[in-house]
Amino acid sequence: MPSYHAWLDDVRPSPYADQLSLGFRWLRFSPVLEREYRAYLLDDSFELKRIALSVAMLLWLAFAGLDLLMVQTPHLWWILAVRLLVLAILLVCAGLILQRRHTRLLLPLSMLCILALGAGAAAIVGIAHLADPNYPYEGLLLVSMAAYFLVGLRLSEALACALAVLLLYVGAEWLAGLPWPRLINNMLFLLFGNLMGAVGCYLLEYKSREHFLVSRLMRLLADRDSLTGLHNRRSFNRQFERLWRQAQRDGQSLALLLCDIDHFKAYNDHYGHQAGDTALQRVGALIEQAARRPLDMGVRLGGEEFALLLFDIGTEEARRRAEALRLALVELNIAHQGSDSASMLSMSIGVACLSPSVGGELNQLYEHADRALYEAKAFGRNQVVA
Ligand code: GH3
Ligand code: MG
Ligand code: MG
Repeated sequence: MPSYHAWLDDVRPSPYADQLSLGFRWLRFSPVLEREYRAYLLDDSFELKRIALSVAMLLWLAFAGLDLLMVQTPHLWWILAVRLLVLAILLVCAGLILQRRHTRLLLPLSMLCILALGAGAAAIVGIAHLADPNYPYEGLLLVSMAAYFLVGLRLSEALACALAVLLLYVGAEWLAGLPWPRLINNMLFLLFGNLMGAVGCYLLEYKSREHFLVSRLMRLLADRDSLTGLHNRRSFNRQFERLWRQAQRDGQSLALLLCDIDHFKAYNDHYGHQAGDTALQRVGALIEQAARRPLDMGVRLGGEEFALLLFDIGTEEARRRAEALRLALVELNIAHQGSDSASMLSMSIGVACLSPSVGGELNQLYEHADRALYEAKAFGRNQVVA
């Protein structure tokens, strides 16, 4: 059993953790994750494809040199024609792949390269065997190995390519009239080679999938607060700047709600730290619900301080949302005997709203909200100040 199972029990539920627990022996994730993984794989294997293309073209040309030494005319002309045709296909594919603009074509183009190399190699071996049955056919194994290890294909795609190449080879030898015992011998050799390639490719893809899940999970853990599951301060700082720039570009306004639970130290003292944690989780859930649009963001800044960043919203609407949030906590009616401001747990909220395209700086939004929060505390807590 993989070693990560023990610590998975301690992390918050997430699709990545769930998939790691469920396993993926058949090299398949749930549909949403599968789509994400394939997009990641395309991006991740781009460099590999570039190297693979260069290696393939170099080897293809080197084998052409071998043909010049080993094959006599007129078969040599046919073989060189095939080599030229395949090289032309590789060059066109390389041009399209290296542009990196046609992401959807990356996979079909990679498979086309392998199939062109395989079909070309099969045809060349067939033509050469018309005159000389000792012409080496093992180059076909190199093509299969490239499919399994060099192009960044998934096992199913590599297997499909390698088996197609094997069939093309058998067809070419059959046309060339290679004696059956020899053909069976060659086929078995290629089959066993493919078996080894497929096993290696399976292990490689398994590790690649595991790496994908673990790295995504780590990123999630690094950006989230472990108690409430909200974004943490680190993630907030990064996203805040990004959203600020986006609001600047789109001419939208941003609202920041800084929320601080009232007399929380007294709550801890009276009800205990564990009850305090549970209360923080319940407040966290309210903040999460309030950040319902895709560009909104619920944050636990630390301790009993939370933030809600709202995108494309005016001051009045932001104040209304803050008031609704404050009321939602009051309505939870979490008894708080140590509080001077209310009989239940409450919070004070400072609201600030800015339109980055009109002027102002990112720090100003935070400072204004912080000042408003300070005033909300000073005016008696359990209230919103904008
Ligand atoms: P105010 O109304 O002025 O905000 O008073 P306050 O008591 O809420 O503010 P103060 O900053 O004095 O105290 C914050 C308390 O929050 C202190 C600490 O015990 C508590 N706290 C911070 N982080 C956690 C946590 O993760 N779990 C629990 N249970 N308590 C925490
Ligand atoms: Mg505080
Ligand atoms: Mg407080």
